[in-house]
Amino acid sequence: MSVTVEIERKDSQPARPEWVCPSCKRGARSADVSANLFVCPSCGHHLRVSARERVAQLADRDSFDELWPTVRTLDPLEFVDLEAYPDRVREAQAKTGLDEAIVTGTATIDGSACVLAVMDFGFLGGSMGSVVGEKLWRCAELAAVEGLPLVAVCSSGGARMQEGILSLMQMAKTTCAVDVVNEAGSPFVTILADPCTGGVMASFAALADICIAEPGALLSFSGPRVIAETTREPLPEGFGTAERNLELGHLDAVVPRNELKARVGSYLRLLKGGDSPERRTARRSRDRGKRGLAQAAADRARALAALARRSSLRRGREAAEPAQEAPAREETP
Ligand SMILES: [Zn+2]
Repeated sequence: MSVTVEIERKDSQPARPEWVCPSCKRGARSADVSANLFVCPSCGHHLRVSARERVAQLADRDSFDELWPTVRTLDPLEFVDLEAYPDRVREAQAKTGLDEAIVTGTATIDGSACVLAVMDFGFLGGSMGSVVGEKLWRCAELAAVEGLPLVAVCSSGGARMQEGILSLMQMAKTTCAVDVVNEAGSPFVTILADPCTGGVMASFAALADICIAEPGALLSFSGPRVIAETTREPLPEGFGTAERNLELGHLDAVVPRNELKARVGSYLRLLKGGDSPERRTARRSRDRGKRGLAQAAADRARALAALARRSSLRRGREAAEPAQEAPAREETP
């Protein structure tokens, strides 16, 4: 008697991918996603990145010099909701390894020195409390005094509710900080990353000389769900996205993450009177064109001079004198 036994190998199931894209649901290796600057290799969805990762992506290697890392929030209102505010801050510090929702310092981006401020959405939703406002103010002062451009990467849910009115006052403070930068004539560039909403979007983030965003970033004052529920109206397609904001003229460009560093570097060179790499290349080829024209004119002059000399020689020996002048004239072009 023969018996048939079917054995299902446990490892016959397709291996679960290390990472699954929240947008297209396709899998990838974590190392590939990280190497791709945390952009989905399949669909180009831009993941949120921490402030440290952002600094590493934007600043030139070893150029970032952190400033004011020890400015910490007090608990002015002794605020308690489900948890005490200081406990929430401590948890956020443990989770992110940061002291606050913004990291500030000086750096070079694609060779241009600047003051760099980077917000971290992972720290209490990138909310703007007194420390975020104060550090941004110090960045503005430094940029103004040193004549450096200020670059800010903004990603925030808005005000920090636990600091109440003191948090809302940061909108006025950071707006004045932008004035300080403007009055000093220092350039100000903001990069808006998903999500950039509330008090940050309604203050310094939107006041830059050049305001750019990452693809697909949500940029609005309130979230689309809140607005839809309040107005009880369907929202237009693409409401609040970076692409829609660009169409409406609220942004200067939507720039993919892998081009951000070069693009910001270009802006910094242009704003301080330098040239972008593209323009440099165009000028070089224009110059090459000019040299080509000059060469052609010289060749033509030589040919004409030679022709004139031959004609003079033909006219007779007495015309030899002008013919001798011809080589001298050749040198002129
Ligand atoms: Zn994807």
